[in-house]
Amino acid sequence: MSGFLPDQSGAEVRVSPNFGPRRETLRPDMIVLHYTGMATGAGAEAWLCDPTSEVSSHYLVHEDGRIVQMVRESDRAWHAGKSSWFGRTDINSCSVGIEIVNPGHLLGYKAFPKRQIDAVIGLCAGIAGRHSIPPQRVLAHSDVAPGRKVDPGEKFPWKALYAAGVGHLVPAAPIRPGAALKTGDTGTGVEALQSMLALYGYGVEISGVFDRQTQIVVAAFQRHFRRRQIDGVADGSTICTLERLLAAVKATSPK
Ligand SMILES: [Zn+2]
Repeated sequence: MSGFLPDQSGAEVRVSPNFGPRRETLRPDMIVLHYTGMATGAGAEAWLCDPTSEVSSHYLVHEDGRIVQMVRESDRAWHAGKSSWFGRTDINSCSVGIEIVNPGHLLGYKAFPKRQIDAVIGLCAGIAGRHSIPPQRVLAHSDVAPGRKVDPGEKFPWKALYAAGVGHLVPAAPIRPGAALKTGDTGTGVEALQSMLALYGYGVEISGVFDRQTQIVVAAFQRHFRRRQIDGVADGSTICTLERLLAAVKATSPK
């Protein structure tokens, strides 16, 4: 394929060979945000278009706000890997993937420039509008692949997105000393915590045992929604923030 018209007006097109048809569903109903985790944006762009990499995303957003589309929104890009949300595991088939240029945690994680974030906001708003994607389905790679991925990471300004009408957020509850659920704990409190995480979409087994997977998912939740302390311990602030989040989804969901 030599090219296509961009789905997002203003985007440049550089076609990646790494895509296929969406399975089971024809339309995306989720947006997954990533950081590139490579030294340069140009390097990341080349890698996502390299047939040997076998990875791609629908869009790449450079630090200067330039948007490059590599896979059509109607096609299935290869960005999410082994993932899960609401029990669904083929996230590539139901999502649009956006790679945001940032060296990431291993190469000097840094703040995302405002121009870049403004471009991400406009892009997400466009995609959500074209496919009627609800705010709570604009997610981090770390939300759908907890333990395996941490991107776009705790410096990603979800607040700025939310202020512009993109994504779902509630104010994090303040951290105070008190009881907490942690690795090794068992019982109804742990079961309730796991149920609430699963109710929001996270891939966690409701076992009543605070196991390694629970700790990993609590940390993923904190990385997005309660960033002050990312430790995998479900303290009062974490649980309260999760409750607020679920209440906010309920309040906005159509009956
Ligand atoms: Zn990623």
